[in-house]
Amino acid sequence: MNRWTPEEVHDLNHRFETTNPTDILKWISNQFGTKAALGTGFGPSGILLLNMISKNKMNIPFFYLDTDLLFGETYKLRDELETYFDLTFERVSTPLSLNEQAIKYQSELWKKNPNKCCYLRKVVPLKNYLIHKDAWITGIRRQQTDTRFDTKIIQWDPFNEVWKINPLANWTSDEVWTYIHINELPYNPLHDNGYPSIGCQPCTNQVASDDHERAGRWSGMDKTECGIHISTQKDQ
Ligand code: SF4
Repeated sequence: MNRWTPEEVHDLNHRFETTNPTDILKWISNQFGTKAALGTGFGPSGILLLNMISKNKMNIPFFYLDTDLLFGETYKLRDELETYFDLTFERVSTPLSLNEQAIKYQSELWKKNPNKCCYLRKVVPLKNYLIHKDAWITGIRRQQTDTRFDTKIIQWDPFNEVWKINPLANWTSDEVWTYIHINELPYNPLHDNGYPSIGCQPCTNQVASDDHERAGRWSGMDKTECGIHISTQKDQ
């Protein structure tokens, strides 16, 4: 695996702040090849990156985390994107079925202990998948939440032991949506119905138009992240 010193990472980040995301993706492809992978929840940022990778014929694999609890609209969009881009997403999931989870822990675990539920259904499957990778590409942006404000374009993820690369870290929601509309890309219809950010169905609510873009995720709970973007995970 490529290793860079903190000084080299600092210099890369300085350069990438003014680099087009397509060129960052080309750099990733050259550095890591198929040892990099783009993870997407089929949000607009992920679709934008998919389009850049696909249009430029980069050989970067794609995957998604399937908790078995995504919206029907999300599964439909996954199928639509596979046809549109002529690709297949790798499905990453836990072998623990929802029934087994209910028996072993409790039914509707997401209501009582969402951290445990996210850990079982997202954090652990992702870590197991990334064991075989050197770089994980994400669509996260600084503007999304307070917890993401210091996201670097390239950073070491000590929990998953990969380079985490966020080519859109300095993009705004408006910039992403402008790209989606100009390029007439498919997107989740729920976004037009009060869902700016979409995760699992039990943990995603509609928001008011002036709410923060991730306000509908785990609303009413002291939780803003599922855990995959927190680099200091502990066993839950
Ligand atoms: Fe479970 Fe909700 Fe986390 Fe999905 S977002 S894994 S349903 S707690």
